[in-house]
Amino acid sequence: MDREKHLPDCKWGASCYRKNPEHLREFRHPTSGTQANQSYEKTSTSQQSASAALATLTLQEGSIDTKNLVLLMLVGPPGAGKSTVCQKIVQIAVRPWKRICQDVISNGKPGSKQKCLKDAAAALSAGTSVLIDRCNIDVSQRKEFLQLAKDKGVESHALVLNIPVKECIKRASERVAHEGGLDGSNAAGIALRFARSRVPPSLEEGFVRVTYCRTDPEIENIVCVYSQLGFWDHLPLGVFGASVQEGKEKLKSVLQNKESSLKPTYDKQELRANSLTQISLQGPMNVAGSSRSNDGDGETKASVEEPTTGKSKDWYAAGARSLAFPSISTADFQFDHGKAADIILETAVEFHRKPKHAGLRLVFVDLSPSSDMLSRVSAKAAEAGLSSLQLLIYAGDITTLHTTGGPRCNFIANATNWRLKPGGGGVNAAIFKAGGYELEMATKAVVQTVEPGDAVAVPLPATSPLRRLQGVSHVIHVLGPNMNSQRPNSLAGDYKQGCDILRKAYRTLFEVFSSIALKDEKASSSPYKPLVERSTKQGSGQSSVAGGQSKTNGSSKAVTKNAFTLLMENAKRKVVGGVVESERKRERLSALEDDNRNDVDASAGSLKTHAVVGNRVEHSGEGSNTLSLMGSEFKLKKIDEARTSQQWSSWAQSLRNIALHPDKHSPTVLKISKDAVVISDKFAKSKKHLLVIARKDGLDSITDIGTQDLPILQHMHTLGETWAKQYIDEDPSLIFRLGYHWAPSMRQLHMHVISQDLDSPCLKNKKHWNSFTTGYFRDSQDVLAEVKEKGRVMPCPPEVEARFLSLELRCHRCRSAQPNIPRLKKHVATCKAPLECPFLITSGPAQ
Ligand code: AMP
Repeated sequence: MDREKHLPDCKWGASCYRKNPEHLREFRHPTSGTQANQSYEKTSTSQQSASAALATLTLQEGSIDTKNLVLLMLVGPPGAGKSTVCQKIVQIAVRPWKRICQDVISNGKPGSKQKCLKDAAAALSAGTSVLIDRCNIDVSQRKEFLQLAKDKGVESHALVLNIPVKECIKRASERVAHEGGLDGSNAAGIALRFARSRVPPSLEEGFVRVTYCRTDPEIENIVCVYSQLGFWDHLPLGVFGASVQEGKEKLKSVLQNKESSLKPTYDKQELRANSLTQISLQGPMNVAGSSRSNDGDGETKASVEEPTTGKSKDWYAAGARSLAFPSISTADFQFDHGKAADIILETAVEFHRKPKHAGLRLVFVDLSPSSDMLSRVSAKAAEAGLSSLQLLIYAGDITTLHTTGGPRCNFIANATNWRLKPGGGGVNAAIFKAGGYELEMATKAVVQTVEPGDAVAVPLPATSPLRRLQGVSHVIHVLGPNMNSQRPNSLAGDYKQGCDILRKAYRTLFEVFSSIALKDEKASSSPYKPLVERSTKQGSGQSSVAGGQSKTNGSSKAVTKNAFTLLMENAKRKVVGGVVESERKRERLSALEDDNRNDVDASAGSLKTHAVVGNRVEHSGEGSNTLSLMGSEFKLKKIDEARTSQQWSSWAQSLRNIALHPDKHSPTVLKISKDAVVISDKFAKSKKHLLVIARKDGLDSITDIGTQDLPILQHMHTLGETWAKQYIDEDPSLIFRLGYHWAPSMRQLHMHVISQDLDSPCLKNKKHWNSFTTGYFRDSQDVLAEVKEKGRVMPCPPEVEARFLSLELRCHRCRSAQPNIPRLKKHVATCKAPLECPFLITSGPAQ
């Protein structure tokens, strides 16, 4: 007992569920109400992070399994952005993470590796995943941490920030007042040393997952992946990231043995001459996402092929120019693999010969790293001189590319059946399942059947999980030839016809993709669009759905009904077991929506539909929004309406109407300036609750803000501050926070000015409460800082939104858990604990 006195307190105090002797030896567990327990309560009061709250919740449920903990080792030179990544993960994480940074490990000062190991061990024992924020240059630097993870039975992951060393040196030498004193030439020296002696982490070394990131969007993506990781979640294991160049020699030798007799008909010289993209003919093997071993030289080059088109690299990462496609006809339809691989390469090379396709990316995806088709296509891609920016070969699940750290692809191809029926196994079943009811209905709206060789693009409604979670904007259904005599319409070994049809299928698929992607790009003024779009600009002429909509895009023509509405109406007639099936499904959909959005009607969540099939462009008549590229006869459903796939319901437009036409809403508006209006929140969640709404058209939410909007943002902040101070002058007990909902329910950028009593009859449920007391509420100052630093605000991943809003009810002052809203309100009315938010507006010094 005496010995226990000298131990550090377990952060979970008396509520710690852990029984393992090692943990009990390492930490003191005072009884409830002791100082340690209080100190945990205190440290967890930060409203910026939900992780501590969730950790407590989970621990109380007693369900942590150490197998789900992760030791994530950052790898990169000074200046690569390791600390920023760690801080972001910690800030918005769902599970608790501890950043172990050697630069500050000794009470804010640099310390030893041993101290890092000790602190990491303690955190893991306490049920906290750890981020090892050191350079971790080579095997010797990483070894002990790997051993620690092994001893604790937790997974070791590596995250390589593969930033060009030159850039790191520049960043590091420019920085001042680095927390660990690593700035100026000091840091530059280490960055250089890193460049010389780095050895990339590998699976052989003991990691179970290695992710390579280079671009900002890739880094943001991985921050999302790790921050979204719940207690029970496991990430897929293997090597991920487009810059991975592993396994090239091994793979090459495997492939040489499997060389097909059919030679592809591409011409390297011509390809080089025509392509605007720089191609490295001796370039690295184009394999990513494979769990194959390192190639022995241990070198992951800092730079792979760069596009020289002047286009932003973000385009690739953002997915707007990438098509993920599976192998067509080689599974159930039993097409010969060698011939199929040749056709893939032949058509890919042909595709990239066209200068207009420079910058478009094809991503060949197969589920298993050991897939025969993957190997064949890899070898041929290298041989053809296609760079990984032109044709990436990727092992992974095509339906979860985004959330598993894979390449971002807004377009995915589905190797389907002639009636486009969901199910049947393979990729068709997986894509229809992932696309949900919405994909099924949207497909039906476009086309009933397809012929072998056809491809049909179906824009995904915003509510489709594939779009919401993975950012997929279009599924392109494609039908290949059938060589399987057990299936209908078999070509019975006629490979002449079979190859023609398969060639046509790939060509059509790629053409469909390019026709939409290029139109999209043209329509977009900005080269970067967030992957998971919450909205597009209604009436702004922009669209994330392209292809034939130019007539209606941005047009003022009256809109009657959209495809989704039509489908819903049709489906309503279909009664299943006495219940209207469509209504049941609709109920399911709307149950997912926030109650602030429960008025959403399908007609407002519009759907633009077009079909592209075969190889001939056909514009349908006036009033139709349907474009078809038709290679065979089939009926297209006429769709009355084609608008962008905006998701704001009419209900969600109120603030926008006020901001754009404040004169028409004069009784509601408290103040009008050139850039913003101030109104009282109609459903105030506090004694004093105002909204400061931006007036600029096109600023729907914080994720639309660019650096050019910083003056507006600053102005909104100042306005909010002024009003808060006025209220405080009248009632000095009031305390205010200014901030934004990360994923707002109402359209038009609006900042909440909200007093912290949170005392209002309109505050009725957990979502209301959590939207103002968790990391879902983004302080205005934070948003300003993020835009200044990063140029924009990272979108809120839907899973993060869901987790924040469903967190256990806790007092925003003392963080005590409360069973329900009435009890919470009763408690809050008397709780005197200080608020621990970084940006409060008060009558006196910060509370
Ligand atoms: P959010 O979009 O999640 O940031 O929240 C939207 C806010 O707008 C909520 O606090 C609503 O109470 C408020 N609100 C909704 N409709 C109106 C309206 N017509 N006038 C003023 N405030 C509104």
